[in-house]
Amino acid sequence: MTLTWTEQAAALLNIHLTEAQAAQFDLFAADLAVWNERVNLTAITDLAAIQVRHFLDSLSIVQAGVLPDGARVMDVGTGAGFPGLPLQIAFPHLEVTLLEATGKKIAFLDHIISSLGLVNARTVQARAEEAGHLPEHREQYDLVTARAVARLPGLAEYMLPLARIGGRCIAMKGATAMTEAADARQALAVLGGRLVGVEAVTLPEVDEPHYLVVIEKIAPTPAVYPRKPGIPTRKPLRG
Ligand code: SAM
Repeated sequence: MTLTWTEQAAALLNIHLTEAQAAQFDLFAADLAVWNERVNLTAITDLAAIQVRHFLDSLSIVQAGVLPDGARVMDVGTGAGFPGLPLQIAFPHLEVTLLEATGKKIAFLDHIISSLGLVNARTVQARAEEAGHLPEHREQYDLVTARAVARLPGLAEYMLPLARIGGRCIAMKGATAMTEAADARQALAVLGGRLVGVEAVTLPEVDEPHYLVVIEKIAPTPAVYPRKPGIPTRKPLRG
């Protein structure tokens, strides 16, 4: 018998969604499909694929065990809300900030947040290179997440300035996870990060490898980082 995606969330990730939460995910998927016709939000349009590749994949962050009650989470380059919005729906006690540079995507996220009544979620329209210098965001977050935003050496410069000391960053990566982690060694050292580990994630009926690259913030990020918009990815910190 094939399991529904919510049964898979329970079996694989020990996440038990209520009927109300499952209904919130259904609404999110329906609105994603409607908005995707006029705003470019996702290449994945089939409902079953959205449930596995967007919802379950986003929730797989729990494998890293970093979501205590009330944790402040910043999702960098969230796009249509991944992984931040599924985490907020599944764990309403989190305080999730969705950071995104594109106004049309922010409009979609604001619509979803208000129609699902996600009172602990908020959006910020900015580039990570700018948000990382604002006192209300710099070193404020217990967990900083990112999926499909940039290669890790540049991405680390987006993420680490936002994490508090003792907090974590989790970059969701595919087959290049190990290489990117090795290439980011110097960037992590400069920015106050330490690689904790690279954890494999298994998703049902998904062949490509998925990994969580887990980084701990162990020292303050020097004030000059992040550099100006575009520089972290164009000239990533190297040894
Ligand atoms: N994280 C989402 C996902 O996995 O479905 C979206 C991935 S999409 C490929 C990358 C997103 O990151 C885009 O929406 C883009 O606007 C945003 N982005 C890229 N660089 C950024 C930056 N420096 N600051 C803020 N957002 C950024």
